[in-house]
Amino acid sequence: MQQWTDTTECIVCHSIKPEGIRICGEFICIDCEQAIVHTSVDDPEYPLYVECMKKIWISALS
Ligand SMILES: [Zn+2]
Repeated sequence: MQQWTDTTECIVCHSIKPEGIRICGEFICIDCEQAIVHTSVDDPEYPLYVECMKKIWISALS
């Protein structure tokens, strides 16, 4: 079981947000989660989000 507090630092924007999701133990705030979901592949921000997701997968696998 994992314990986490009500406020956690988002791995994407590094802001402390009360709401968000956990993926493989990493926290993504609700804003970034929505941004990732709605970002299209040709968006200039897309590679940034992909990099963040990669970091999550890598830390999850290691
Ligand atoms: Zn965020």
